[in-house]
Amino acid sequence: MGFIRIGIDDTDSPGGMCTTYLGALLCERLEEAGFCITERILVRLNPNAPFKTRGNAAVCIVAEEKNPDDRERAFSVACSLVDEYAEFECEKTNPGVVVCNSLISTEFYKKALRDFCTIEEAETLLLNSGALYRGWKVKRGLIGATAAVSAEFEDFTFEILAYRSPFSKEIRRVEKDTIFLAEEKTYPHTWDSVDFENNVVVCVPHTPDPVLFGIRGESPEWVLKARSYIISEEPEREIVYITNQGTDAHLIDSDILHILDGRSYRLKGIVSKEASTGIGGHVSFEITDSEKSDEASKTPLRCMAYEPTKGFRDIVRGLRCGDRILVCGSFKNTSINLEKIFVESLADDFIKKPPVCPKCHKRMTSAGKNKGYKCRICGIKASLPETSVVPRTITPGWHEVPPVARRHLSMPLVRRS
Ligand code: ATP
Repeated sequence: MGFIRIGIDDTDSPGGMCTTYLGALLCERLEEAGFCITERILVRLNPNAPFKTRGNAAVCIVAEEKNPDDRERAFSVACSLVDEYAEFECEKTNPGVVVCNSLISTEFYKKALRDFCTIEEAETLLLNSGALYRGWKVKRGLIGATAAVSAEFEDFTFEILAYRSPFSKEIRRVEKDTIFLAEEKTYPHTWDSVDFENNVVVCVPHTPDPVLFGIRGESPEWVLKARSYIISEEPEREIVYITNQGTDAHLIDSDILHILDGRSYRLKGIVSKEASTGIGGHVSFEITDSEKSDEASKTPLRCMAYEPTKGFRDIVRGLRCGDRILVCGSFKNTSINLEKIFVESLADDFIKKPPVCPKCHKRMTSAGKNKGYKCRICGIKASLPETSVVPRTITPGWHEVPPVARRHLSMPLVRRS
């Protein structure tokens, strides 16, 4: 007996649907057709992929293969579902379905997770692998579907997703207090259902898709326990996925000089320009390469903490030139969009004041640019200012964006402990 892996991607549009919902429906239809499902896998891919609708998700469902025609039967069930539910009228919806018996290419999964792939690359792999596959319209979904059946997780978490009908247009009815209770009862084994600091529910989307709520955690048992506290409208269906969410699997270790647009990195640097707040409350600062001292390495790299990262911006504002840090985030449009930072060491922070005149005991004033200080009463001069150490407002260690601004793939710090 073997296994069949069924990958699906690109079935939704900004107006509705969700590939993870189709994954849940697929499990139900396969079970009705006599299949035994062994794995339900939710795969997040490069968060900077240009054609993503929302969170760049694809799914892979694994079932036992018992009969010679099982592959064809599973393929036909998956294709019928896509025909029935995909949002074909949207130009950006280009579904793909792949059915195979083993991981087609773990390298392709890694590339789709951290880099960019082409439809041709996916099709070549599929042709050579003997997989059954179908792409609709421009067939872009074959990229995500091929990556999904090829996904091998070094680290993983779980998410329970509850759905309502994809045709429901009502406001979602989920009792906010019960979500806070679920988090209180199960944190740190589940996370990011709510954002206590900002008093916001994070696990109930506001987008026009069938997700009612989703709870993330370290095991199926913990997400189910958290789910048991939640009171809501009656879900149409629920599923527990194993997933690469919350694992930092998208991050590439690199140095500042070798980063490319659209990829996500872990980079060491020294703060070279302190934070300033721009229009809209977005905060930026600059770092340079911490290891090298040649001219090229002094090129500054802008790091951004956007307004939705809320209190994290105060951490960033507390950085001082000379601080040694590690930044994590995507490199897009010439800056790193921060997901978290590690403060390795803090530089001393001083404030400089004109010295006090030893004779008159009054504070001197500047004697002009680069001319030191002068007492306006007795005329005594001094070359150096009075310096005093300012206590630092931030501490060494990790600092992260709040749950409300967390990216799917980004590992919450609670998972590090
Ligand atoms: P949903 O969550 O419902 O799946 P989404 O946000 O995941 O929506 P999709 O509708 O799946 O977005 O669109 C993403 C598209 O980008 C898919 O066609 C997928 O095959 C493709 N894609 C995913 N990762 C990459 C990548 N690394 N390089 C190129 N294309 C990619």
